[in-house]
Amino acid sequence: MAVPVLIIGAGIIGCAIARELSARGVHVQIIDDRPVAGGATQASAGILAPYIEAHDRGLLLDLGVRSLALYDDWIAAVSGDAGVPIEYRRPGTLEIALDADHAADLRRATSGGNPQWLDRDATCALEPALGSIEGALFVTTHGYVAAPELTAALARAAEHHGATFRRSRAERIERVSSHLRVVTASGAIDADRVVLAAGSWTGALAGDRWAAAPVRPVRGQLLQLGWQGPPVTRILWGPECYIVPRADGSLLVGATVEDVGFDERATAAGVRDLLDAACELLPQGWGATFMNVRVGLRPATPDDLPLVGEGETEGLVYATGHYRNGVLLAPLTARLVADLIVEGKRDPALEMLAPGRFASRT
Ligand SMILES: Cc1cc2nc3c(=O)[nH]c(=O)nc-3n(C[C@H](O)[C@H](O)[C@H](O)COP(=O)(O)OP(=O)(O)OC[C@H]3O[C@@H](n4cnc5c(N)ncnc54)[C@H](O)[C@@H]3O)c2cc1C
Repeated sequence: MAVPVLIIGAGIIGCAIARELSARGVHVQIIDDRPVAGGATQASAGILAPYIEAHDRGLLLDLGVRSLALYDDWIAAVSGDAGVPIEYRRPGTLEIALDADHAADLRRATSGGNPQWLDRDATCALEPALGSIEGALFVTTHGYVAAPELTAALARAAEHHGATFRRSRAERIERVSSHLRVVTASGAIDADRVVLAAGSWTGALAGDRWAAAPVRPVRGQLLQLGWQGPPVTRILWGPECYIVPRADGSLLVGATVEDVGFDERATAAGVRDLLDAACELLPQGWGATFMNVRVGLRPATPDDLPLVGEGETEGLVYATGHYRNGVLLAPLTARLVADLIVEGKRDPALEMLAPGRFASRT
């Protein structure tokens, strides 16, 4: 018998959709050959900062702001369903200018979110660990979530509502009479609908003329440092790196942006560049404890917007290509996909996110 919905990919996007659909009473199966959150999601800094990520960038900013507005209630619901706490805080971001030109640019920024310009003294009064800076743009509504922890909670919440997980790699998707067949190394699974949430690996599976090509991997490396200096309480966003202060007192430092195909290695150059950038902001960084480096492949598209919605093949729904903002956009993506599958409701934003938008339809 065909499962109603099969989701390929147990990253934050696949798990968010699984939880949303199963909470609405749909039976869902998820397959992934990696553990939950084992792709880009495990490397994510989890920053929720639409007004920085999408300075003046139309639809991406709108989507980010919409999704951020869902976050408080979403975290409470997921945490309740899963029965586990999730590290989620909204301490605000300080977008830091190191010189007068950058300060002038930031002061002109019209990115919304009620940004407040702080001069050097006001910024350092908030964050005494900062070194030599010009000032900072403070957006109080921004925050972060522990992305792997959240994704594990989403998976657990989905299971609580009846979803099932299977460790398996999808090899191809075929249309077979009234349903779709996903062929895996351990047998075929028939499904009424398939949601493709395979992140950077989407292209290998899509087999769909419209959407096969555009998702490409962009490597990101992220460091975790044990911090012994004066407390850092807000997210610091410098010209060459960002720094996220975690509840355990450690700092996340990210992230490199590298076009190196499917290479998931951490490199000496990546670590060096991030340490240089972090210590430019926090001079005491050279004395920090090096805890670990994580690497992930961000699923990028030509216009930096995700692919969400129906593809060319009937029954196949895309939810991929979230590039630098998959954590921020997860609750909204889950809602848009569930509305589409359960109610046949097409949010107006789906038109701009259509998986076929890059294809020539001649
Ligand atoms: C260093 C770094 C920092 C980041 N920081 C932020 C941030 O601060 N804020 C933010 O919002 N975003 C951030 N991102 C981006 C964010 O992590 C991604 O957009 C998000 O994780 C994408 O989620 P996903 O579920 O689409 O992909 P993934 O997490 O990559 O999951 C895709 C899953 O699909 C599985 N899969 C693929 N092919 C198959 C197949 N054939 N069969 C079965 N399973 C398959 C993979 O194994 C994988 O588990 C960051 C990314 C990186 C790398």
